[in-house]
Amino acid sequence: MIYTLNNPIKNFSWGSRTAIRDYFGIDNSTLERQAEIWMGAHPSASSRISQAGVDVSLCDVIANNPDYWLGKGSKGRASSLPFLMKILAAEEPLSIQVHPSKKAAELGFAEENEQGVALDAPNRNFKDPNHKPEFVYALTPYLAMNGFREFDQIVANFDAMGLPTLKEIFQPFKKKPNSLTLEVFFTALLSLEEKLKVQVINELLGAVKTIDEDHFAYQASSLISRLCGIYPEDIGLFGPLLLNVVELQPGEAMFLYPETPHAYIQGLAIEVMANSDNVLRAGLTLKYIDIEELIKNTKFQPITFESLILNHHGIQNNREVYPVPVEDFNFDVLKLRNTISLTTTSPEILLCLSNQVTLITDMESRVLRAGESVVLPASLGKYRISGKGSVARAYC
Ligand SMILES: [Zn+2]
Repeated sequence: MIYTLNNPIKNFSWGSRTAIRDYFGIDNSTLERQAEIWMGAHPSASSRISQAGVDVSLCDVIANNPDYWLGKGSKGRASSLPFLMKILAAEEPLSIQVHPSKKAAELGFAEENEQGVALDAPNRNFKDPNHKPEFVYALTPYLAMNGFREFDQIVANFDAMGLPTLKEIFQPFKKKPNSLTLEVFFTALLSLEEKLKVQVINELLGAVKTIDEDHFAYQASSLISRLCGIYPEDIGLFGPLLLNVVELQPGEAMFLYPETPHAYIQGLAIEVMANSDNVLRAGLTLKYIDIEELIKNTKFQPITFESLILNHHGIQNNREVYPVPVEDFNFDVLKLRNTISLTTTSPEILLCLSNQVTLITDMESRVLRAGESVVLPASLGKYRISGKGSVARAYC
């Protein structure tokens, strides 16, 4: 069977009022902030399907019949979809954050349970025992920060800003830039007492105005100027000096590794992630920051700018396959010119990105227009897609 998805829309304050409407034609006549549309079976906001004419939660029907939905030999965990796909429309920046490794999430989750920290407590770090690798595929220009810059770039950025108040804590890293000195500097920066923090942010906001357009630090400074309008006293304003700033172009993708600081700034994208809610925040937020836990779960290693873009394996049989480096999910973009045949080996979620396509199985066919999505059970087997549209496909 092919099941059309009815997906929850998340109206977070950073969401766009127009991006999803304009791209997919999904109605938003009251101009709500539409931040995310979730396609999947997350227990907190599951998609819904119609089964024998009855409206039911995908989360529930999978739990009731895991063999049919997940397949007998599924790589996923026994009771639910191992991945979640989202349309994400950021008008304003999301917090700078780090997601833990799987091992750290298992340990942290058990530890907080033992300590009796409630799952919804504001100081709860680990909401589940899973990691949360993320993959982003841009639909419009998509601005983000991802991973520490190469160390010489971090030194050049901070040098360009001057920042007398930071001189003492920055010196050890500047003299000997390595992972250890970066960790010490980063910890000290996040731990600044309030008065010094205000002072150094004032120095930073003064300095960014003086950077010329052709200076290396200009990209970071212009982002800082933009962020300070929203978070004028936030330590995350130093993020662009420390982290790679990247703007994906439509059709470009990147991967966000565990233990790697990142932030989405603006744009419309498809995001696929492991089914987890584990977030440790590091700035651009009013929410709780647990510095000790954040540092423990952060790898202080640089990622070269050139390695940020994740290229697909080339178009084969109308299909762009992305080399996602985790087992929790795979991602393809189908760019249809003629009919193609596929076979499910896991549950799949398909979202039509443009025009319209037709899904055909032995039993039925279903037209899928831009913005519409379906879920296919692992046990479906062979199916075909025809038409001249493009389709995002998540599976595992
Ligand atoms: Zn994230």
